[in-house]
Amino acid sequence: MNERYSRQILFQEIGTAGQDRLLESRALIIGCGALGSAQAEALGRAGVGHLRIADRDFVEESNLQRQTMFTESDADERLPKAVAAANHLKQINSEIEVEPIVVDVNHSNIERLLDDCDVVLDGTDNFATRYLTNDACVKHRLPWIYGAAVGSYGVTMTIRPHQTACLRCVFDETPVAASAPTCDTVGVIMPIINIVAAVQVTEAIKLLTLRFTELHNALLQFDVWRNEWRQINPGKPRSDCPTCGLSYFESLQPETSEAAAVLCGRDAVQILPARPTTVDFQILASRLQRSGEVKYNDYLLRFRTGEYELTVFHDARSIIRGTEEISTARSLYAKYIGT
Ligand SMILES: [Zn+2]
Repeated sequence: MNERYSRQILFQEIGTAGQDRLLESRALIIGCGALGSAQAEALGRAGVGHLRIADRDFVEESNLQRQTMFTESDADERLPKAVAAANHLKQINSEIEVEPIVVDVNHSNIERLLDDCDVVLDGTDNFATRYLTNDACVKHRLPWIYGAAVGSYGVTMTIRPHQTACLRCVFDETPVAASAPTCDTVGVIMPIINIVAAVQVTEAIKLLTLRFTELHNALLQFDVWRNEWRQINPGKPRSDCPTCGLSYFESLQPETSEAAAVLCGRDAVQILPARPTTVDFQILASRLQRSGEVKYNDYLLRFRTGEYELTVFHDARSIIRGTEEISTARSLYAKYIGT
């Protein structure tokens, strides 16, 4: 018996056969922030043989309170999160392969990223990437595990294309930009991250060891501060669902996802919202004021944080100054404007 995995093999539901399956499995983790780094560590320790970790961000000091795999030296060196996670995983389990990919996951690369994987885990912080993941996974009939956390609240659901409801069966429209709180406006505490990631990882292990009847089959919601735990039945796949019912994969179309453009010579990037909306500046300003300097008038809201300045218009179009990197701009938009 492999000593490293001996306690997991003793757990009857996994056993030697399950452990062998894990060692031969490949998982894609999209987003390696709080949820993604917790998933990567747990799957790496469990012996999932190949982990592909895709993330567009760098480690920052404000991550360290909850992104438990990262250290002060990762933040000092501004290491890409995927690379920092891979470095730590090598120390934790040298027997598995870890493939860090520093990339803004989008319509042009997601199908390549999930190629040859057995399961996909959601570690992202925005709905646009989740719909993209849902479209790509339904198209390729690959199971994926949705997860999100903000404040003390978290939610997760496991999607097995055409067998369970997909993300779009349950949430048929993307929440409009600037309508929902994000971890960068209302904060987040670490325990809810670990709860959501733990459920996601358990579901991934059940999928990889073929224990399908033991999946939770629910939309699980937790609020660890307010002591609320809910289990909602997501229903069956909807025949009128654009994604799993009609096989229309909107997020994989270049014209619907090319919503960012570098503004040449202005050290700025423009981001367009995923769908039409109207932003209430007063509400957005009250959420942003804890994270930086905010001013607004009838036409636009201006928010300064560190070296960046975000200008937001009523239609949620934003100009992000201080970068010419679309991935950095998208990341700031997801953090502060949301979705
Ligand atoms: Zn669906």
